[in-house]
This record gives sequence, C-alpha cells and structure tokens, in this order.
Amino acid sequence: MALQETNQLLHFVIIPLGSPGHYIPTIDLAKLLAQHGVRVTIVTTPVNALRFGSILDQPIQSGLPITFLELQLPYMKFGIPEGCECMDDLPNIGLAHDLFNAHCSLQHEVEQYIEKLDSKPSCILSGTYLLWVGETAKKFQIPRIIFDGMNCFTQMCNHVLYHSKVYESVGESDSFVLPGLPDRIELTRSQLSFLFNSGSTDTKDFSEKLRVSESEAFGVVVNSFQELEQEYADAFQEVRKDKAWCIGPLSLCHKDASEKVQRGNKSSINENECIKWLDARESGSVIYACLGSLSRIEPAQLIELGLALESSEKPFIWVVRAGHKTEKIEKWIDEEGFEERTKDRGLLIHGWAPQLLVLSHPAIGAFLTHCGWNSALEGISAGVPMVTWPQFQEQFYNEKLLVQVLKIGVSVGVQKVVHWGEEEKSGVVVKSEELRKVIEMVMSDGKESEDRRKRAKELGKMANEAIGEEGSSYQNITRLIQDIRDQSSTKNLS
Ligand code: UDP
Repeated sequence: MALQETNQLLHFVIIPLGSPGHYIPTIDLAKLLAQHGVRVTIVTTPVNALRFGSILDQPIQSGLPITFLELQLPYMKFGIPEGCECMDDLPNIGLAHDLFNAHCSLQHEVEQYIEKLDSKPSCILSGTYLLWVGETAKKFQIPRIIFDGMNCFTQMCNHVLYHSKVYESVGESDSFVLPGLPDRIELTRSQLSFLFNSGSTDTKDFSEKLRVSESEAFGVVVNSFQELEQEYADAFQEVRKDKAWCIGPLSLCHKDASEKVQRGNKSSINENECIKWLDARESGSVIYACLGSLSRIEPAQLIELGLALESSEKPFIWVVRAGHKTEKIEKWIDEEGFEERTKDRGLLIHGWAPQLLVLSHPAIGAFLTHCGWNSALEGISAGVPMVTWPQFQEQFYNEKLLVQVLKIGVSVGVQKVVHWGEEEKSGVVVKSEELRKVIEMVMSDGKESEDRRKRAKELGKMANEAIGEEGSSYQNITRLIQDIRDQSSTKNLS
C-alpha cells in the first residue's frame, strides 16, 4: 500500500491549549499531519475554531482530512465573559485560571466522543499542561503525545534543572551553571521558567503532576529542526528513549501570502498596504518589533521602546499592544505626535500583525522579539538576526539559545522574568538608550553584525531544507507516524 493510503488508517485527536502561542503551531501541525495522509480531529470551541481554524478552510476544501470537534465552553459556570476562549481575549488576567479550568471541563465531552467512535483514535496529542488528557489517554489506552511548542534546548534546561535541583541552593540573582549541558549555560533563578520560579503562585504540586504526566506520555513532538540544535536534540532523544520528533519549523507549512496573513487572527493591517510599505524599503533595512501575543508590557516601558525606534533612525514596524493598557500607549502615540514624527519611516500595527508575512519580506533586517519560541523560530526561518528581550516563561532560555549558542541575537540585557500579571510592579526595566544601542549594533555594517547576519541566513536556509522531502523534519514526521502505526498494530495483536 502507498504511504499516503496506509496513513489513512491512522486517526490523531489534537487538543490545543487556549493561548495563541499553543494554538497557532498546533493548527500548523494538524495541517502537516493531514498532508501526510493522517486523519486529524481538532478539539476546539466555536470562537477559537473561527479564529485559528479559518487558515485550514481552503486546504480542507481541497481534501485535507481534518475535522473540527466544536465543544461549547461553559462560560457562565466559570465566570468568563461570553466569547472569551483564548488567553489574549480575557478582559483581566485574574480570569486566566478560570479559562484554563473551563477548557479542562471539556474532558467529559471528549471522552463521550471517543466512546462513540467505531474505532479508538491512534493517538491523542496535546500540551503538557492539560493533565486530564493524560488521564483520558490512560483510560482508553491510547498513546499520548505531548506538544508544547518548545525546543530541545529548553526541554534539556528543564530536565537538568528538575533533576539537579541546582537552583534551590542559590540566591534569586546569583548566576549558576546548568549542569550536564553541551554548552556552559548560566542563568539566575529569577530568569527561570515558572516551573522553577513561580513568583507569588505556588506551583510545586502542579509541577510534580506535570512531571509524572510527561514521563507517562508516549513521546514529545518538538517544533524545531535537528540541525539547529543537534546536540540538544540528541540529548533529548536519549531522555525520551527515541520518542522525540523534531518536525519544524511548523510555520513553513504555509506558503501563500493569503495563508500567512490569516494565521492566528484577523490581521489589523491590510495585507496589500503592508506589502506596499515593505516593498518601498531597501533590502534588510527595516527593524520589526513585536513582543508576542500575551505580553502586557507597561505603557511607560513601551514608550521607551517607541523612543528607541525613533532615535535609531532606521525604518521600523512596531506592533503596538499592551493588553488592557493598550489605550494608554495609543494615547501617548497620538498626543505626543509619535506617529506623525515617524510617519516617513515607521509603520505602526495597532493590534494583530501578519507576522509571517512581514518576517518573510526581504526588507526586514532584524527582529526585536520577546523570544517566545514560535516567534524566535519564525525569525530563524526567515534568516534574520534578532534583538532579544525576554519577558517570562522559558523565554530567557530561548534568549540563551539565540545569543550564546546560535550567535544570531543580541540581548537588550534584561535580568529577570516579569511575571505575567505583575508588570506594574516591575515598571521600566530597559531604557530607550539601551534599546537603541542594541538595535544599532544588530543593524550596523560592522564585521560582527555582518557575521551575525550571515549565520542567520545560513540557519534560515537550513530551516527550509529541513522540511523538504530529503530533510530531517520530513523524515521525523514519517518516523512519528510509523511509531504510532507500530503502536497501533501491537495493540491490535495483543
Ligand atoms: N503573532 C502574530 N501576530 C502578532 C503577535 C503574534 O502572528 O501580532 C504570532 C506569532 O507569529 C507567533 C505567535 O503569535 O506564531 C506567538 O507565539 P510565541 O511563542 O512567539 O509567543 P507568545 O505569544 O506565546 O508569548
């Protein structure tokens, strides 16, 4: 039987977590699996289906075997405003936990769906944090695959931190070396992800459950490519006993501009207007500044960024967003004449940017990023050097990977995590002068910058090769499907 035909016997049920950084690559992954002939069901809710799923409308019409299982989120029961189904929709951060619980409450309906199927799904794929998926997988004896959208470097940082507990015996801001990694990686406790540095939230119990759930999972899908971080990929492969599959960069599954522009949300800027603006700039001359989908940076801090972009005297695109305080920064932009002063070389995107479309334009010379892994990998795939400004979660690890290991980024020098929801307490952590210096360093013509640009370009080329038919990620997705097939046939024989 041809590979595509045999894969049709497999059925993956995919359950994304309710935040853009998880939903977006999970939808990409669904597309990729379906392109390999696997039948995919995405468990979702109505607003998220419309927002994140519309990018699949055309591929589904053309025959890709993807269906959506739309379940109604019980808004009232969890005190969530109607229509808020994703973290960045929430009017206030205090509701994040309720939204998470509302998504978890769908377990029963998912189990009812599985019970009614003629045959059990071949596997369930979801983020680690959805602990209930592990329970459901166990109950129905279905292999569970974890997909968190992290790279192998981060996985290994978490692994050694968890096992060595080295961070427990050091002060908040004392730097220490993470033991047993291929490179000498130094971090401070206040730069660690929330598993080891949770601020005012007690996560000990949850972290323990997470570890158990991860160890029980069949394997882990990684949005990265082996050549990017070979030694870390090998080490993680060993940790997962060969059941880790680097199958990225997932964003490269979208080739057309019309797809790129729909990814993750309705773009706040007209696609043609954006392209026209970029077309009018010189190659490699523009700095693109976007700090992710969840950052809630204080207006005072964003003003520093605006002033840095202005004083750098380079063309720039700035994606302006400050969570519930967006109005304040918009007011500053308007009343202080910022947009007017920079109108000849600045393009402001007020809301959601078509990031893939922007990054893949040759006019982009650097990406100022918060180091969320999706954004970082999208920057790598586009072959651009980066200005790194991590905020929270595993973003400081990603910064280390970009700056120290891959040598394609320059840090703005932030020293510690700003916990989500505690931004006001931190105030301004980096001044415009510092930001300007780093932007200029990355954009300059000097030898160091040239070398950085060259390395970034090479990695971009490698990323594109990895997803081609001869590439490592293509082969890894084939191996993943084969591993699940082997698992299914073992079950059927027993
Ligand atoms: N993104 C986008 N437009 C925006 C903001 C974000 O397309 O205006 C996309 C970005 O391309 C990436 C995802 O949203 O795929 C954000 O994920 P990431 O891991 O970078 O950061 P997070 O938002 O989870 O912190």
